[in-house]
Amino acid sequence: MTTTGLRVNHLRKTFRGGSVVACQDVNLDIEQGELLVLLGPSGCGKTTTLRCIAGLERPDNDDAIWLNGTNITRVPPKDRNLAFVFQDTALFPHLNVRRNISFGLDMRKALPQDDIKRRVDEVGKLLQVGHLLERSAHELSGGQGQRVALGRAIVMEPAAFLLDEPLANLDAALRVEMRTEIKLIQRKLDTTMIFVTHDQEEALTLGDKIAVMKDGLVQQVDSARNIYLRPANLFVGTFIGSPPINQFPCTLKTEGDTLMLCSSSFTLPLPPAIAKVLVDKNCAELTLGIRPEFIQITESGAAAESIPGKVQLTELLGSRTLIYVAVGDTEYRVLVQGDSAVKEGDNVHLSVQLEKAFYFDQNGNNALPATG
Ligand code: ATP
Repeated sequence: MTTTGLRVNHLRKTFRGGSVVACQDVNLDIEQGELLVLLGPSGCGKTTTLRCIAGLERPDNDDAIWLNGTNITRVPPKDRNLAFVFQDTALFPHLNVRRNISFGLDMRKALPQDDIKRRVDEVGKLLQVGHLLERSAHELSGGQGQRVALGRAIVMEPAAFLLDEPLANLDAALRVEMRTEIKLIQRKLDTTMIFVTHDQEEALTLGDKIAVMKDGLVQQVDSARNIYLRPANLFVGTFIGSPPINQFPCTLKTEGDTLMLCSSSFTLPLPPAIAKVLVDKNCAELTLGIRPEFIQITESGAAAESIPGKVQLTELLGSRTLIYVAVGDTEYRVLVQGDSAVKEGDNVHLSVQLEKAFYFDQNGNNALPATG
C-alpha cells in the first residue's frame, strides 16, 4: 500500500440489494500532488467512485479507500479531510462570498477569526474573487459562483480535492477558461485532485493521468497522450477522439515473406515490427482502428499502396476539414488540416498510416499497448 496519496482498492459498490452494480472492481492510485481525471460515459460509476472516496457512499468491501497509507473506508466524511466540489455549487445565497468561503472553517471552530479572515483573503486573491467578498452569493455569475465553491474547498486545506463535473453548468468559453485555472491552482497548491467528467476534451487537457471507466471498471489509467495514441482496448479507442476512429474488421494472410492485412476495402502489407507482434500473439482476426488524421488523401497518381475512393461529403470544422470517402461499401473518415481542395464527387486515393493504427484482437484488446 502506498504511504502517500489516495488509493482505491478493489472498490465494489452495489445498490438495491446488489442488483445494481455501480462499481464492479475499481482500482486507482493517485499520488500526492497529482491530478487524476475520471472519464467515462454516463452511468459508468464515476460519481459513485468519488462519493465512496468522500465517504458519502458506503463501499461493499471494508478495505476500499486508503489515504496516506491509512484505511479510511469506514471513517465518517467529516473526519477524512477531503473537500468535495459539485456541479451544483450549493452556495448559501443569502450569505456573502466571504461567509460562504469561510463557512467550513467557521463550523470547525479551530482557528481564530483573524486567521480565518487572512485565509479567505488569500484564497479570494488566488481565485480572483477578492473584489467580490462582500457581495451576496445570489449576485454572482456562474463562473464566479464556481470559483467561490472552489474557494470554500481550498480554505479547508484538505488532503485532496474531489471535483464532480464542476464546470458542467458553465458556458463553453468559461469552461475552457476555468479548466485552465483549475489546473494552474492545482499546480500552485501542489495538491491531490480527482476531477470527474464525461467530456473527453476536458479530460485530455486537464489530467496528469486519466482513468477511463466503463461499466464500473477502469479500462485504462494513463497519460492523455497514451490514452489517445495507445488506447488499451476498442472501448477506449472509440470513446476518445472526435471525430471517432475508423474501424475495419481484418484478417491476416501471408504472401511470401510479408504479412498482409486484408479488409473488405484494402489489402496492405504490414510493417515488419507490427507483423511480428501480431504473429507472436496469434492474431488471425482483428479490428484495425485508425484515427481520421492518420489517413492521408491524394487526388491522383497515388502510391502503390493507396486505396482508391470517391469523396461523399466534406465538413469544415474550423481549423480542420473532415472528409467522408466511400471505398466500395466502406466509409472512411479522413481529417485534414485547414480547408481542403477536394470536393464531393472527386476521385481520390487514400493512404493509411499503419504504424499509427491500433490493432484490436478478438477480445477488443490492443495488441500493441502502451509500454510507458
Ligand atoms: P453520470 O456521468 O451520468 O453522472 P456516472 O458515471 O457518474 O454517471 P454513477 O452516478 O456513479 O455514474 O452511477 C453508476 C450506476 O449506479 C448507474 O447505473 C446509476 O443508475 C446507479 N446508481 C447510482 N446511485 C444510485 C443509487 N443511490 N441507487 C441506485 N442506483 C444508483
